[in-house]
Amino acid sequence: MNEPKNILVVDDDDVIRMACELTLKTEGLNVDLAENGKIAIERVRKKKYDLILLDLMMPEMQGADFLDFVHEFDENIIVIVITGFATIESAVSTLKKGAYDYLPKPFTPEELRKVVRTGLERRKLLLEREELHLERQKNLEKIAAEQSRLRTIINCMSDGLIATDKKGCLILHNAVACELLGIKSQDILGQNIANNLNCGQLEEWILKSLSAKKISARTQHREIVFDKKKQKIYQATLAPIRENGDDFSGIVMVISDISEERKFERQKAEFRRLMAVVAHELKAPINAIIGYLDVVMKGYVEDKPEQRDEYLNRSIEKAEKLRHLIEDLLSLTSVESGKIAGEMEPVDIAAIINEVVKFFENEARVRNVKVILNYPEKMPQIKGVHDSLIYLFTNLISNAIKYNKKGGTVTVDVKVRGRKLYIAVKDTGIGISAEDLDKVFQEFYRGRDEQIKKISGSGLGLSIAKRIAELHRGDITVQSELGKGSTFEVVLPIAKK
Ligand code: ATP
Ligand code: MG
Repeated sequence: MNEPKNILVVDDDDVIRMACELTLKTEGLNVDLAENGKIAIERVRKKKYDLILLDLMMPEMQGADFLDFVHEFDENIIVIVITGFATIESAVSTLKKGAYDYLPKPFTPEELRKVVRTGLERRKLLLEREELHLERQKNLEKIAAEQSRLRTIINCMSDGLIATDKKGCLILHNAVACELLGIKSQDILGQNIANNLNCGQLEEWILKSLSAKKISARTQHREIVFDKKKQKIYQATLAPIRENGDDFSGIVMVISDISEERKFERQKAEFRRLMAVVAHELKAPINAIIGYLDVVMKGYVEDKPEQRDEYLNRSIEKAEKLRHLIEDLLSLTSVESGKIAGEMEPVDIAAIINEVVKFFENEARVRNVKVILNYPEKMPQIKGVHDSLIYLFTNLISNAIKYNKKGGTVTVDVKVRGRKLYIAVKDTGIGISAEDLDKVFQEFYRGRDEQIKKISGSGLGLSIAKRIAELHRGDITVQSELGKGSTFEVVLPIAKK
Protein backbone atom coordinates (compact mmCIF):
# COMPACT_ATOMS: atom_id res chain seq x y z
CA MET A 1 0.00 0.00 0.00
CA ASN A 2 1.27 3.48 -0.89
CA GLU A 3 1.93 5.66 2.14
CA PRO A 4 0.49 9.23 1.84
CA LYS A 5 3.18 11.63 0.71
CA ASN A 6 4.46 14.37 2.99
CA ILE A 7 4.46 17.92 1.68
CA LEU A 8 5.91 20.99 3.39
CA VAL A 9 4.74 24.44 2.37
CA VAL A 10 7.27 27.15 3.27
CA ASP A 11 5.88 30.65 2.80
CA ASP A 12 5.55 33.74 4.97
CA ASP A 13 2.19 34.53 3.36
CA ASP A 14 -0.60 32.97 5.49
CA VAL A 15 -3.09 32.98 2.63
CA ILE A 16 -0.79 31.08 0.29
CA ARG A 17 0.01 28.55 2.99
CA MET A 18 -3.66 27.93 3.75
CA ALA A 19 -4.62 27.76 0.08
CA CYS A 20 -1.87 25.22 -0.63
CA GLU A 21 -2.87 23.14 2.38
CA LEU A 22 -6.51 23.04 1.32
CA THR A 23 -5.75 22.15 -2.30
CA LEU A 24 -3.21 19.46 -1.51
CA LYS A 25 -5.14 17.78 1.28
CA THR A 26 -7.95 17.11 -1.21
CA GLU A 27 -5.30 15.14 -3.14
CA GLY A 28 -4.80 12.85 -0.14
CA LEU A 29 -1.45 14.35 0.79
CA ASN A 30 -0.07 15.12 4.27
CA VAL A 31 0.62 18.80 4.42
CA ASP A 32 2.76 20.68 6.98
CA LEU A 33 3.32 24.39 7.01
CA ALA A 34 6.25 26.66 7.89
CA GLU A 35 6.18 30.45 7.84
CA ASN A 36 9.91 30.92 7.61
CA GLY A 37 13.15 29.12 6.77
CA LYS A 38 14.14 28.43 10.38
CA ILE A 39 10.88 26.62 11.21
CA ALA A 40 11.14 24.80 7.90
CA ILE A 41 14.60 23.50 8.81
CA GLU A 42 13.29 22.17 12.13
CA ARG A 43 10.45 20.38 10.32
CA VAL A 44 12.77 18.83 7.72
CA ARG A 45 15.04 17.55 10.47
CA LYS A 46 12.12 15.86 12.25
CA LYS A 47 10.12 14.40 9.36
CA LYS A 48 10.74 12.83 6.01
CA TYR A 49 9.30 15.09 3.31
CA ASP A 50 8.76 14.10 -0.29
CA LEU A 51 8.20 17.54 -1.66
CA ILE A 52 8.64 21.13 -0.47
CA LEU A 53 6.88 24.17 -1.86
CA LEU A 54 9.25 27.04 -1.19
CA ASP A 55 8.80 30.77 -1.34
CA LEU A 56 12.02 32.56 -2.14
CA MET A 57 11.35 35.88 -0.45
CA MET A 58 10.99 35.30 3.29
CA PRO A 59 12.14 37.03 6.46
CA GLU A 60 14.72 35.31 8.74
CA MET A 61 16.12 33.11 6.00
CA GLN A 62 16.05 33.41 2.25
CA GLY A 63 14.54 30.54 0.27
CA ALA A 64 17.83 30.05 -1.63
CA ASP A 65 19.73 29.34 1.61
CA PHE A 66 17.05 26.93 2.73
CA LEU A 67 17.38 25.16 -0.63
CA ASP A 68 21.12 24.64 0.04
CA PHE A 69 20.28 23.13 3.39
CA VAL A 70 17.63 20.78 1.94
CA HIS A 71 19.89 19.41 -0.76
CA GLU A 72 22.68 18.81 1.62
CA PHE A 73 20.25 17.08 3.96
CA ASP A 74 18.57 14.85 1.35
CA GLU A 75 19.19 15.35 -2.34
CA ASN A 76 16.08 13.36 -3.27
CA ILE A 77 13.57 15.85 -1.72
CA ILE A 78 11.77 17.63 -4.54
CA VAL A 79 11.74 21.41 -4.10
CA ILE A 80 9.31 23.51 -6.13
CA VAL A 81 9.83 27.23 -5.91
CA ILE A 82 6.69 29.39 -5.65
CA THR A 83 7.55 32.91 -6.51
CA GLY A 84 6.15 36.27 -7.53
CA PHE A 85 7.02 37.80 -10.93
CA ALA A 86 9.50 40.14 -9.30
CA THR A 87 11.75 37.25 -8.37
CA ILE A 88 11.52 35.20 -11.54
CA GLU A 89 15.22 35.68 -12.18
CA SER A 90 16.16 34.29 -8.81
CA ALA A 91 13.74 31.42 -9.47
CA VAL A 92 15.79 30.52 -12.53
CA SER A 93 18.98 30.60 -10.51
CA THR A 94 17.42 28.31 -7.88
CA LEU A 95 16.52 25.89 -10.65
CA LYS A 96 20.20 25.87 -11.50
CA LYS A 97 20.92 25.19 -7.85
CA GLY A 98 18.78 22.06 -7.95
CA ALA A 99 15.13 23.10 -7.42
CA TYR A 100 12.91 20.85 -9.51
CA ASP A 101 10.42 23.43 -10.87
CA TYR A 102 8.88 26.78 -10.15
CA LEU A 103 5.32 28.05 -10.03
CA PRO A 104 4.77 31.77 -10.48
CA LYS A 105 2.36 33.41 -8.04
CA PRO A 106 -0.53 33.76 -8.29
CA PHE A 107 -1.44 30.21 -9.34
CA THR A 108 -4.68 28.27 -9.57
CA PRO A 109 -5.35 25.16 -7.49
CA GLU A 110 -5.22 23.13 -10.67
CA GLU A 111 -1.78 24.53 -11.58
CA LEU A 112 -0.56 23.68 -8.09
CA ARG A 113 -1.96 20.13 -8.22
CA LYS A 114 -0.31 19.56 -11.63
CA VAL A 115 3.15 20.75 -10.62
CA VAL A 116 3.00 18.81 -7.34
CA ARG A 117 1.89 15.66 -9.14
CA THR A 118 4.77 15.80 -11.62
CA GLY A 119 7.10 16.66 -8.72
CA LEU A 120 5.95 13.57 -6.85
CA GLU A 121 6.39 11.46 -10.02
CA ARG A 122 9.93 12.73 -10.19
CA ARG A 123 10.41 11.92 -6.51
CA LYS A 124 9.18 8.38 -7.13
CA LEU A 125 11.70 7.95 -9.95
CA LEU A 126 14.49 9.33 -7.79
CA LEU A 127 13.65 6.93 -4.96
CA GLU A 128 13.47 4.00 -7.34
CA ARG A 129 16.82 4.97 -8.79
CA GLU A 130 18.28 5.16 -5.32
CA GLU A 131 16.82 1.79 -4.42
CA LEU A 132 18.31 0.27 -7.55
CA HIS A 133 21.62 1.88 -6.76
CA LEU A 134 21.54 0.47 -3.22
CA GLU A 135 20.56 -2.95 -4.50
CA ARG A 136 23.39 -2.90 -7.00
CA GLN A 137 25.77 -1.84 -4.27
CA LYS A 138 24.52 -4.70 -2.08
CA ASN A 139 24.94 -7.18 -4.94
CA LEU A 140 28.44 -5.97 -5.58
CA GLU A 141 29.24 -6.37 -1.90
CA LYS A 142 27.75 -9.86 -1.97
CA ILE A 143 29.85 -10.80 -4.98
CA ALA A 144 32.95 -9.34 -3.31
CA ALA A 145 32.20 -11.33 -0.14
CA GLU A 146 31.66 -14.51 -2.17
CA GLN A 147 34.88 -13.93 -4.05
CA SER A 148 36.76 -13.37 -0.85
CA ARG A 149 35.23 -16.56 0.61
CA LEU A 150 36.24 -18.46 -2.52
CA ARG A 151 39.76 -16.98 -2.32
CA THR A 152 40.05 -18.08 1.29
CA ILE A 153 38.92 -21.61 0.43
CA ILE A 154 41.31 -21.78 -2.51
CA ASN A 155 44.18 -20.48 -0.43
CA CYS A 156 43.43 -22.93 2.39
CA MET A 157 43.49 -25.93 0.05
CA SER A 158 46.35 -28.32 0.64
CA ASP A 159 46.53 -28.94 -3.12
CA GLY A 160 47.71 -26.55 -5.79
CA LEU A 161 45.05 -24.95 -7.99
CA ILE A 162 45.39 -23.06 -11.25
CA ALA A 163 42.77 -21.87 -13.72
CA THR A 164 43.24 -20.45 -17.20
CA ASP A 165 40.98 -18.70 -19.67
CA LYS A 166 40.26 -20.05 -23.16
CA LYS A 167 43.56 -18.76 -24.48
CA GLY A 168 45.62 -20.34 -21.71
CA CYS A 169 46.21 -17.16 -19.70
CA LEU A 170 46.40 -17.75 -15.96
CA ILE A 171 43.35 -16.25 -14.24
CA LEU A 172 43.57 -17.87 -10.81
CA HIS A 173 46.12 -19.71 -8.70
CA ASN A 174 46.81 -20.39 -5.06
CA ALA A 175 49.96 -20.29 -2.98
CA VAL A 176 50.36 -24.10 -2.96
CA ALA A 177 50.40 -24.18 -6.78
CA CYS A 178 53.20 -21.57 -6.78
CA GLU A 179 55.12 -23.55 -4.19
CA LEU A 180 54.74 -26.87 -6.00
CA LEU A 181 55.70 -25.41 -9.37
CA GLY A 182 58.41 -23.15 -7.93
CA ILE A 183 57.01 -19.93 -9.41
CA LYS A 184 56.49 -16.45 -8.06
CA SER A 185 52.79 -15.65 -7.87
CA GLN A 186 52.98 -12.07 -9.19
CA ASP A 187 55.14 -13.08 -12.16
CA ILE A 188 52.59 -15.21 -13.95
CA LEU A 189 49.09 -13.98 -13.17
CA GLY A 190 47.52 -12.91 -16.46
CA GLN A 191 50.37 -14.46 -18.45
CA ASN A 192 49.98 -17.30 -20.91
CA ILE A 193 51.04 -20.51 -19.19
CA ALA A 194 53.38 -21.51 -22.06
CA ASN A 195 56.92 -21.56 -20.61
CA ASN A 196 55.62 -20.11 -17.36
CA LEU A 197 54.64 -23.13 -15.25
CA ASN A 198 58.15 -24.58 -14.91
CA CYS A 199 56.74 -27.85 -16.19
CA GLY A 200 56.65 -28.58 -19.92
CA GLN A 201 54.42 -31.63 -19.46
CA LEU A 202 51.68 -29.64 -17.69
CA GLU A 203 51.89 -26.68 -20.08
CA GLU A 204 51.64 -28.97 -23.10
CA TRP A 205 48.70 -30.87 -21.63
CA ILE A 206 46.70 -27.72 -20.82
CA LEU A 207 47.39 -26.03 -24.17
CA LYS A 208 46.57 -29.22 -26.08
CA SER A 209 43.26 -29.55 -24.19
CA LEU A 210 42.40 -25.90 -24.90
CA SER A 211 43.16 -26.20 -28.60
CA ALA A 212 41.18 -29.47 -29.01
CA LYS A 213 38.13 -29.07 -31.29
CA LYS A 214 35.90 -30.39 -28.53
CA ILE A 215 37.21 -30.25 -25.01
CA SER A 216 36.46 -33.40 -23.04
CA ALA A 217 33.76 -32.86 -20.44
CA ARG A 218 35.30 -35.47 -18.16
CA THR A 219 37.96 -34.72 -15.59
CA GLN A 220 41.28 -36.15 -16.65
CA HIS A 221 44.07 -37.33 -14.36
CA ARG A 222 47.76 -37.64 -15.02
CA GLU A 223 50.85 -38.46 -13.06
CA ILE A 224 53.68 -36.03 -13.76
CA VAL A 225 57.34 -36.46 -12.86
CA PHE A 226 58.06 -32.85 -11.92
CA ASP A 227 61.64 -33.26 -10.72
CA LYS A 228 63.31 -36.56 -11.46
CA LYS A 229 66.36 -35.82 -9.32
CA LYS A 230 64.35 -34.91 -6.25
CA GLN A 231 61.81 -37.65 -7.10
CA LYS A 232 58.97 -35.13 -7.10
CA ILE A 233 55.84 -36.77 -8.52
CA TYR A 234 52.57 -34.86 -8.90
CA GLN A 235 49.06 -36.02 -9.60
CA ALA A 236 47.29 -33.44 -11.79
CA THR A 237 43.55 -33.31 -12.47
CA LEU A 238 42.27 -31.21 -15.35
CA ALA A 239 38.65 -30.18 -15.89
CA PRO A 240 37.00 -27.72 -18.30
CA ILE A 241 35.22 -24.66 -16.89
CA ARG A 242 31.74 -24.71 -18.41
CA GLU A 243 30.00 -21.43 -19.10
CA ASN A 244 26.56 -22.24 -20.41
CA GLY A 245 25.63 -25.45 -22.11
CA ASP A 246 28.50 -26.68 -24.21
CA ASP A 247 30.60 -23.52 -24.11
CA PHE A 248 33.71 -23.56 -21.98
CA SER A 249 35.67 -20.60 -20.80
CA GLY A 250 38.92 -22.26 -19.75
CA ILE A 251 40.28 -25.03 -17.59
CA VAL A 252 40.92 -25.62 -13.94
CA MET A 253 43.70 -27.86 -12.66
CA VAL A 254 44.33 -29.31 -9.23
CA ILE A 255 47.86 -30.47 -8.48
CA SER A 256 48.79 -32.69 -5.54
CA ASP A 257 52.20 -33.87 -4.46
CA ILE A 258 52.13 -37.69 -4.34
CA SER A 259 55.92 -38.17 -4.06
CA GLU A 260 55.66 -39.57 -0.53
CA GLU A 261 52.93 -42.06 -1.51
CA ARG A 262 54.93 -43.25 -4.49
CA LYS A 263 58.08 -43.49 -2.36
CA PHE A 264 56.20 -45.58 0.17
CA GLU A 265 54.88 -47.87 -2.59
CA ARG A 266 58.41 -48.25 -3.98
CA GLN A 267 59.74 -49.08 -0.53
CA LYS A 268 56.97 -51.63 -0.04
CA ALA A 269 57.76 -53.29 -3.37
CA GLU A 270 61.47 -53.25 -2.54
CA PHE A 271 60.75 -54.76 0.88
CA ARG A 272 58.71 -57.56 -0.74
CA ARG A 273 61.51 -58.21 -3.22
CA LEU A 274 64.07 -58.33 -0.40
CA MET A 275 61.91 -60.68 1.65
CA ALA A 276 61.63 -63.05 -1.30
CA VAL A 277 65.41 -62.99 -1.84
CA VAL A 278 66.13 -63.42 1.89
CA ALA A 279 63.74 -66.38 2.11
CA HIS A 280 65.39 -67.93 -0.91
CA GLU A 281 68.92 -67.31 0.39
CA LEU A 282 68.04 -68.83 3.77
CA LYS A 283 66.26 -71.82 2.31
CA ALA A 284 69.09 -73.13 0.10
CA PRO A 285 71.71 -73.75 2.88
CA ILE A 286 69.06 -75.06 5.30
CA ASN A 287 67.85 -77.58 2.71
CA ALA A 288 71.44 -78.66 2.13
CA ILE A 289 72.09 -79.05 5.88
CA ILE A 290 68.89 -81.10 6.34
CA GLY A 291 69.86 -83.25 3.34
CA TYR A 292 73.38 -84.02 4.70
CA LEU A 293 72.18 -84.64 8.28
CA ASP A 294 69.37 -86.86 7.04
CA VAL A 295 71.84 -89.08 5.16
CA VAL A 296 74.03 -89.31 8.30
CA MET A 297 71.11 -89.92 10.68
CA LYS A 298 69.61 -92.66 8.54
CA GLY A 299 72.97 -94.47 8.76
CA TYR A 300 73.61 -94.51 4.98
CA VAL A 301 77.26 -93.54 5.57
CA GLU A 302 77.75 -95.37 8.87
CA ASP A 303 80.45 -97.62 7.50
CA LYS A 304 82.05 -94.78 5.46
CA PRO A 305 83.50 -92.50 8.16
CA GLU A 306 85.29 -90.23 5.61
CA GLN A 307 82.13 -89.50 3.71
CA ARG A 308 80.19 -89.00 6.94
CA ASP A 309 82.81 -86.43 8.09
CA GLU A 310 82.60 -84.71 4.73
CA TYR A 311 78.81 -84.39 5.03
CA LEU A 312 79.10 -83.06 8.57
CA ASN A 313 81.80 -80.57 7.46
CA ARG A 314 79.62 -79.40 4.60
CA SER A 315 76.76 -78.94 7.04
CA ILE A 316 79.01 -76.76 9.23
CA GLU A 317 80.10 -74.79 6.14
CA LYS A 318 76.49 -74.16 5.15
CA ALA A 319 75.60 -73.21 8.72
CA GLU A 320 78.56 -70.76 8.69
CA LYS A 321 77.19 -69.30 5.48
CA LEU A 322 73.83 -68.90 7.17
CA ARG A 323 75.41 -67.15 10.13
CA HIS A 324 77.31 -64.79 7.81
CA LEU A 325 74.07 -64.03 5.96
CA ILE A 326 72.18 -63.37 9.20
CA GLU A 327 74.95 -61.06 10.44
CA ASP A 328 74.82 -59.16 7.16
CA LEU A 329 71.05 -58.90 7.38
CA LEU A 330 71.30 -57.50 10.89
CA SER A 331 73.87 -54.91 9.73
CA LEU A 332 71.62 -54.05 6.79
CA THR A 333 68.54 -53.49 8.96
CA SER A 334 70.54 -51.34 11.32
CA VAL A 335 72.02 -49.11 8.57
CA GLU A 336 68.74 -49.04 6.66
CA SER A 337 66.97 -47.59 9.66
CA GLY A 338 69.31 -44.62 9.24
CA LYS A 339 71.27 -45.31 12.39
CA ILE A 340 74.65 -46.84 13.03
CA ALA A 341 74.98 -48.88 16.16
CA GLY A 342 77.72 -47.17 18.14
CA GLU A 343 79.09 -43.77 19.06
CA MET A 344 80.37 -41.27 16.50
CA GLU A 345 83.89 -40.45 17.65
CA PRO A 346 87.18 -39.27 16.13
CA VAL A 347 88.71 -42.26 14.36
CA ASP A 348 92.03 -42.92 12.64
CA ILE A 349 91.31 -44.39 9.19
CA ALA A 350 94.94 -45.51 8.72
CA ALA A 351 94.67 -47.62 11.87
CA ILE A 352 91.37 -49.12 10.67
CA ILE A 353 92.80 -50.03 7.25
CA ASN A 354 95.92 -51.52 8.89
CA GLU A 355 93.72 -53.64 11.13
CA VAL A 356 91.69 -54.93 8.19
CA VAL A 357 94.73 -55.62 6.02
CA LYS A 358 96.33 -57.55 8.89
CA PHE A 359 93.15 -59.61 9.25
CA PHE A 360 93.32 -60.64 5.58
CA GLU A 361 97.11 -61.29 5.48
CA ASN A 362 96.64 -65.06 5.54
CA GLU A 363 93.86 -65.13 2.92
CA ALA A 364 95.92 -62.87 0.65
CA ARG A 365 98.91 -65.18 1.00
CA VAL A 366 96.78 -68.26 0.22
CA ARG A 367 95.40 -66.57 -2.91
CA ASN A 368 98.84 -65.24 -3.83
CA VAL A 369 97.64 -61.62 -3.79
CA LYS A 370 99.95 -58.77 -2.77
CA VAL A 371 98.44 -55.97 -0.66
CA ILE A 372 100.07 -52.50 -0.87
CA LEU A 373 99.12 -49.67 1.46
CA ASN A 374 99.88 -45.96 0.79
CA TYR A 375 98.79 -43.17 3.08
CA PRO A 376 100.14 -39.75 3.98
CA GLU A 377 102.37 -39.38 6.98
CA LYS A 378 100.00 -36.97 8.66
CA MET A 379 96.56 -38.46 8.55
CA PRO A 380 93.63 -36.26 9.58
CA GLN A 381 90.99 -37.84 11.77
CA ILE A 382 87.43 -38.36 10.72
CA LYS A 383 84.32 -38.60 12.84
CA GLY A 384 82.77 -42.04 12.66
CA VAL A 385 81.78 -45.32 14.22
CA HIS A 386 84.83 -47.58 14.48
CA ASP A 387 83.07 -50.96 14.00
CA SER A 388 81.03 -49.77 11.02
CA LEU A 389 84.12 -48.44 9.28
CA ILE A 390 85.87 -51.77 9.96
CA TYR A 391 82.88 -53.48 8.26
CA LEU A 392 83.10 -51.10 5.29
CA PHE A 393 86.83 -51.64 4.64
CA THR A 394 86.63 -55.37 5.45
CA ASN A 395 84.15 -55.75 2.62
CA LEU A 396 86.09 -53.66 0.10
CA ILE A 397 89.45 -55.29 0.88
CA SER A 398 87.93 -58.80 1.09
CA ASN A 399 86.24 -58.27 -2.31
CA ALA A 400 89.48 -56.94 -3.80
CA ILE A 401 91.29 -60.10 -2.60
CA LYS A 402 88.61 -62.71 -3.35
CA TYR A 403 87.71 -61.35 -6.82
CA ASN A 404 91.38 -60.97 -7.77
CA LYS A 405 93.58 -63.15 -9.98
CA LYS A 406 96.42 -65.34 -8.77
CA GLY A 407 99.54 -63.16 -8.42
CA GLY A 408 97.41 -60.00 -8.49
CA THR A 409 97.69 -56.90 -6.32
CA VAL A 410 95.44 -54.86 -4.09
CA THR A 411 96.50 -51.22 -3.59
CA VAL A 412 94.90 -49.09 -0.93
CA ASP A 413 95.64 -45.39 -1.59
CA VAL A 414 94.64 -42.79 0.97
CA LYS A 415 94.65 -39.12 -0.09
CA VAL A 416 93.59 -35.84 1.49
CA ARG A 417 91.91 -33.31 -0.80
CA GLY A 418 90.41 -30.23 0.77
CA ARG A 419 88.21 -31.20 3.72
CA LYS A 420 87.80 -34.75 2.46
CA LEU A 421 89.57 -38.05 2.70
CA TYR A 422 89.69 -40.29 -0.40
CA ILE A 423 90.44 -43.98 0.05
CA ALA A 424 90.81 -45.96 -3.16
CA VAL A 425 90.84 -49.77 -2.99
CA LYS A 426 92.25 -50.87 -6.32
CA ASP A 427 92.59 -54.46 -7.53
CA THR A 428 93.90 -56.20 -10.61
CA GLY A 429 91.13 -58.80 -10.54
CA ILE A 430 88.33 -60.04 -12.74
CA GLY A 431 86.65 -56.63 -13.05
CA ILE A 432 82.98 -55.80 -13.53
CA SER A 433 81.19 -55.29 -16.84
CA ALA A 434 79.83 -51.81 -17.58
CA GLU A 435 76.23 -53.06 -17.50
CA ASP A 436 76.69 -54.61 -14.03
CA LEU A 437 78.54 -51.64 -12.57
CA ASP A 438 75.50 -49.83 -11.12
CA LYS A 439 74.07 -53.09 -9.78
CA VAL A 440 76.93 -53.97 -7.44
CA PHE A 441 75.53 -51.73 -4.67
CA GLN A 442 72.10 -53.41 -4.79
CA GLU A 443 71.19 -55.86 -2.04
CA PHE A 444 71.87 -59.53 -2.93
CA TYR A 445 73.48 -58.69 -6.26
CA ARG A 446 76.22 -61.18 -7.14
CA GLY A 447 78.14 -61.35 -10.41
CA ARG A 448 77.30 -64.15 -12.84
CA ASP A 449 80.96 -65.03 -13.44
CA GLU A 450 81.86 -68.70 -12.74
CA GLN A 451 84.68 -67.58 -10.42
CA ILE A 452 82.23 -65.56 -8.35
CA LYS A 453 79.81 -68.46 -8.05
CA LYS A 454 82.62 -70.54 -6.55
CA ILE A 455 83.35 -67.87 -3.91
CA SER A 456 80.97 -67.65 -1.00
CA GLY A 457 79.14 -64.39 -0.36
CA SER A 458 75.65 -63.04 0.22
CA GLY A 459 75.75 -60.06 -2.12
CA LEU A 460 74.95 -57.73 0.78
CA GLY A 461 78.46 -56.44 1.57
CA LEU A 462 78.62 -53.49 -0.83
CA SER A 463 75.05 -52.31 -0.19
CA ILE A 464 75.78 -52.17 3.53
CA ALA A 465 79.19 -50.53 2.95
CA LYS A 466 77.58 -47.81 0.81
CA ARG A 467 74.91 -47.06 3.43
CA ILE A 468 77.63 -46.86 6.09
CA ALA A 469 79.59 -44.35 3.96
CA GLU A 470 76.38 -42.31 3.44
CA LEU A 471 75.60 -42.31 7.14
CA HIS A 472 79.09 -40.81 7.62
CA ARG A 473 78.08 -38.10 5.09
CA GLY A 474 80.36 -39.75 2.53
CA ASP A 475 79.97 -42.08 -0.47
CA ILE A 476 81.46 -45.01 -2.39
CA THR A 477 81.88 -45.01 -6.15
CA VAL A 478 83.29 -47.66 -8.47
CA GLN A 479 85.25 -47.78 -11.70
CA SER A 480 86.06 -51.05 -13.37
CA GLU A 481 87.13 -52.77 -16.55
CA LEU A 482 86.17 -56.38 -17.18
CA GLY A 483 89.22 -58.63 -16.95
CA LYS A 484 91.52 -55.85 -15.78
CA GLY A 485 90.39 -54.86 -12.30
CA SER A 486 88.27 -52.51 -10.26
CA THR A 487 88.71 -49.41 -8.08
CA PHE A 488 86.28 -48.70 -5.27
CA GLU A 489 86.75 -45.17 -3.92
CA VAL A 490 85.44 -44.13 -0.52
CA VAL A 491 85.11 -40.44 0.28
CA LEU A 492 84.63 -39.30 3.88
CA PRO A 493 84.52 -35.79 5.37
CA ILE A 494 87.42 -34.82 7.63
CA ALA A 495 86.40 -33.99 11.20
CA LYS A 496 86.41 -30.31 12.25
CA LYS A 497 89.11 -29.55 14.80
P1 ATP B 1 79.39 -60.52 0.80
O1 ATP B 1 80.14 -59.24 0.69
O2 ATP B 1 78.09 -60.36 1.45
O3 ATP B 1 80.19 -61.62 1.37
P2 ATP B 1 79.59 -60.40 -2.03
O4 ATP B 1 81.01 -60.07 -1.94
O5 ATP B 1 79.17 -61.24 -3.16
O6 ATP B 1 79.05 -61.00 -0.68
P3 ATP B 1 79.22 -57.59 -2.38
O7 ATP B 1 80.43 -57.28 -1.62
O8 ATP B 1 78.04 -56.76 -2.17
O9 ATP B 1 78.75 -59.07 -2.12
O10 ATP B 1 79.55 -57.56 -3.90
C1 ATP B 1 78.51 -57.74 -4.84
C2 ATP B 1 79.05 -58.30 -6.14
O11 ATP B 1 79.82 -57.29 -6.79
C3 ATP B 1 80.00 -59.44 -6.00
O12 ATP B 1 79.32 -60.67 -5.89
C4 ATP B 1 80.79 -59.35 -7.28
O13 ATP B 1 80.05 -59.89 -8.37
C5 ATP B 1 80.90 -57.86 -7.49
N1 ATP B 1 82.15 -57.32 -6.95
C6 ATP B 1 82.32 -56.68 -5.78
N2 ATP B 1 83.60 -56.29 -5.62
C7 ATP B 1 84.26 -56.70 -6.71
C8 ATP B 1 85.63 -56.60 -7.14
N3 ATP B 1 86.54 -55.98 -6.40
N4 ATP B 1 85.94 -57.11 -8.35
C9 ATP B 1 84.99 -57.72 -9.10
N5 ATP B 1 83.71 -57.86 -8.76
C10 ATP B 1 83.34 -57.36 -7.57
MG1 MG C 1 81.66 -58.62 -0.46
